Parts: sequence; structure tokens; C-alpha cells
Amino acid sequence: MQIIKMKDWGLGIDTSKPVIISGPCSAESEEQVMQSCLGVAEKGAQILRAGIWKPRTRPNSFEGVGSEGLPWIKRASKETGLPTTVEVANGRHVYEALRNHIDILWIGARTTVNPFAVQEIADALKGVDIPVMVKNPVNPDLPLWIGALERFSKVGINKLAAIHRGFSVTNSKPYRNLPMWHIPIELGRLVPGLEIINDPSHICGNRHMLAGVSQKALDLTFNGLMIESHINPDVALSDAKQQVTPDGLGELLGRLVTREPVSENPMFTANLEALRSDIDKLDREILELLGKRMEVAREIGQYKKDNGVTILQMSRWNDVLSSRIEQATSFELSEEFCKAYLQEIHDESIRQQTDVMNRSEAV
Ligand code: PEP
Ligand code: MN
Repeated sequence: MQIIKMKDWGLGIDTSKPVIISGPCSAESEEQVMQSCLGVAEKGAQILRAGIWKPRTRPNSFEGVGSEGLPWIKRASKETGLPTTVEVANGRHVYEALRNHIDILWIGARTTVNPFAVQEIADALKGVDIPVMVKNPVNPDLPLWIGALERFSKVGINKLAAIHRGFSVTNSKPYRNLPMWHIPIELGRLVPGLEIINDPSHICGNRHMLAGVSQKALDLTFNGLMIESHINPDVALSDAKQQVTPDGLGELLGRLVTREPVSENPMFTANLEALRSDIDKLDREILELLGKRMEVAREIGQYKKDNGVTILQMSRWNDVLSSRIEQATSFELSEEFCKAYLQEIHDESIRQQTDVMNRSEAV
């Protein structure tokens, strides 16, 4: 995939620092858009956002003001000198956004999930030179996210970026949408050169967790943050709990620490290398032990098979889980991590025992 980076989008975006995209979840009135956007521009936002058409879970809730709101955000753009971005979900939205000279389009999570909708938008953009930012699909499906980016690439849109807004899964607590950081990290590995913006607002679903998630995103080398901001969040017509005032945005940004992805300091490099070689050695030992553990699991599989016994004994699995989790806490490992790790090992052990069970005995 050929990708043109944000600094070369011709919109004056400065990527030497995290790119802040901000503005209301939804455009509600001209005054609300103007006040929110002028406010966030003062606090360092580089791109203005506003939802014009809102994909809502249930009907009869506020579904956006529609095209009427596009001139409002353009007016905010004119007064601040900042580029604008809106979400488009179909060909008509694209037509309206282009007609109103919106600078950047974004694809929402509920659209990325649908290849027909993404293709319709991509087809509407054939021959148009406009940047597109693609949010992750609602479900944790990385190929679907990459597929959406590819659909734009195939129609000649090279000014591309991704937005990580978390995944809608059961048990996302304490988040609204579970970040599953390994997915955007893997996206960055598979699509080199792709810039990824983090959207802490839709990950958190509340204001008080925004700072922690934003800092984590910067420490994971995300290229910027999309943060919803409303002049009066408590009366917002959508996502009231997660929006911050422009002053709140300023405070949040002021607290963030930006660190460098690399250091030229030779002392630092030497010490880091020494610590990393410890990690390399430990990883090797862990893998060796896991290999040995699976060897025993296969032996157990054979023994169960010879005696006509099932692979799973629930009481044993319960004991393994509870005793290991108890041990793990004394090694400063979290219960969550230990449980997830044991489940992975157990899955592999079951898979290996199943192989043994299914193997036809040599005669
Ligand atoms: C939004 O940015 O307001 C929005 C609707 O987000 P998402 O597509 O991530 O749900
Ligand atoms: Mn929103």
C-alpha cells in the first residue's frame, strides 16, 4: 500500500508533535460548533472534527443535523485556519462533504465493519484527492481494518491514516470499547508507514480515564489523538459523558508527557542492550519450559487414551487455575494476565492431547 503521510497532505499538519484532532461528537448548532472549535484551536488542536451524520445504536435518538452542519464547521475552519474532518458513511455523505470542501474524511467504526459500505464510499472517491482516516471496525478483526484501507488505496487514495477507537466486546470494563492495544500495534507492523491516531474518547466512554489512555497511546508511539470536545458537554446530544470542554482539553494536553521513540545517548543504548539480552535469555528459557510442559501433556494424552479417559477434568482445571493465580501474585503478576496466559497454555495442551487421541495407533 502506498501511503502519503499527514505532513504531506498539503494541510499544514505538523507531525513533529502528536497531532490533536478535536471538536464535538456531533454538530448541534452553529454556535455550539463555533465555540467548541474555536476553543479547541486555542488549546492546540490541529484538525477540527464534528459528526454531521451520527450512526446511533437505537432509532429515535439524535442522528445528527445532516448537511446543514457542514457550513458551520467550514466557518470554524475559516476563523481558525485549521483543516476539518467529518465522518462519511455512504456515497451521499461523500457528495455533501466534498461539495462543502471538507478537508479530510473519516470512516466510522460501524462503517469499516461493512465492506459494501466501504466500497461504495471508495467508489464515490475515485479520482478525488482527499485524505481518508479509517477507524477500526467495531469487532476486533484486523484483516477487515486493513481491507478497508486497501479499498481506498485501490481507488487511488494514498493520503491514508488509521484511527484506533477500541473494540466492542462483552466485558470491556472499565472501558466503553476495549483498547486491545496489540491490534493497532500489529496494524502498524503490517502496514509500515501508516500513521495511527488514538481516539481515547470512544475507548473510555468517560472523561476521567482520558488522560491515562492518551498517555499510553503516546508511549506506544501513536501519531496523535482524536478527543471529543464540547463547549457544554453535560448537555451534549451524543456522548455527553466522554466529552471535555476546550479548557478540559487544554488541561489534559498540558499533563501529557511526550517521549522520544529512540535515544542517541550511548550509555542509555548500552544499558538497554544489556537488559534486552536478559529478556532474550529469559524468553528462551520460558519457551524451553513450555516445550517440556507440552511433552508431558502429550504423555498424559496418551495415558488418558489408553485408559479411555476424557481430555478435560474440570476439577483439575479449576485447581490449576486457582493455584497458579495464587502463585502469580507473589511474582507481581496480575490475576488477569495469569488467567489469560493459563487459558492459552491450556488450549494448546488440549490441542496437543487431541492430536494424540486422534492419532491412529501403528499396527
Ligand atoms: C464518533 O467519532 O463520533 C463516532 C461515531 O465514532 P465511532 O465510529 O468510533 O463509534
Ligand atoms: Mn462520539
